[in-house]
Amino acid sequence: MNRAAYMTDVNTMFFKEVPMPEPGPEDVVVKIEYCGICGSDVHYYNKGRIGDYVVEGEFILGHEVAGTVTQVGTAVKHLHVGDRVALEPGITCGHCEQCKEGKYNLCKDVIFFATPPVQGALQNYVKHPADMCFLLPDNVSTKEGALVEPLAVGLHACKQGNVGLGDSVVILGSGCIGLVTLLSAKAMGASNVIVVDLFEKRLEFAKKLGANHVINARTENVEQRIQELLGDRGADVVIETAGSPKTIYQTPFFAKMGGTVVLVGLAVDADLTYNMAQVMNKELTIKSVFRYRNLYPTAIHAIADGSIDVKQIVTHEFQFEDAKQAFDTVIADAENVVKGIIAL
Ligand SMILES: [Zn+2]
Ligand SMILES: [Zn+2]
Repeated sequence: MNRAAYMTDVNTMFFKEVPMPEPGPEDVVVKIEYCGICGSDVHYYNKGRIGDYVVEGEFILGHEVAGTVTQVGTAVKHLHVGDRVALEPGITCGHCEQCKEGKYNLCKDVIFFATPPVQGALQNYVKHPADMCFLLPDNVSTKEGALVEPLAVGLHACKQGNVGLGDSVVILGSGCIGLVTLLSAKAMGASNVIVVDLFEKRLEFAKKLGANHVINARTENVEQRIQELLGDRGADVVIETAGSPKTIYQTPFFAKMGGTVVLVGLAVDADLTYNMAQVMNKELTIKSVFRYRNLYPTAIHAIADGSIDVKQIVTHEFQFEDAKQAFDTVIADAENVVKGIIAL
């Protein structure tokens, strides 16, 4: 039997039996074991839309999933029944310029779990292209497999910033994406990672996960503290994950001459004030991030060899039956929930 958790209106959720998926020749069917709750899921659940993407009718949330293969299509060679896999959620066309360049995350025809009208993966069984299902080694759990998705965002942010050995990195925002960016930056060799946030609890979490320094923007003068920690030089890379106009504005000021700014957080208002004199005088490189590409194998290897302990970011675990409670908790206790995950 296959059951899905549906939302029909904001803050509603109910279960419904759905047909068992049938794999096409190049697909596998996966019994989902874990589904992470992403900020975007919460936004759809609570607000019913993200920009132009509007939830209409019955909608299944969830795109951070992993589980065990139960059926394989006739043309699938590399996966077998019983294999444990992490599912990369975007299915792309494979033919457009961006796909051919390897930047398939920018494919205009992408079909991405839980982005209306495409249904999500918070259900017992899903069908997915086998080439977007990544085998988990024995020492990587399916819980960790579900966390590969947010981790890939952090890895992509650091790759875009070219973070490397010995670098100093300022990360603005210590939510889930800020923390996976921190884990990625440390794993990629950064020596001095400074994390800035408004909430003390989140900063304590960042310290636990390896931040060299943390700054509380509510009680400390951020500019002054960064000056104390990095001197006049500034940071090699500044990564913005909070998505607030204020922190986006701060980014060029914290970067060194010739440094790089990576914008990950999306501000509610798209039109922002930015100091172009800082950018021009320092000859900064500004990069942005849209999801991630080609990073599932990297993330899985980094988890398997111990370079990144991603499961540390999970603060709240729920059962599938309590899916509604899971979403309600994530919203009501935003300060304490870093990452909620649902076990199916
Ligand atoms: Zn996500
Ligand atoms: Zn394409």
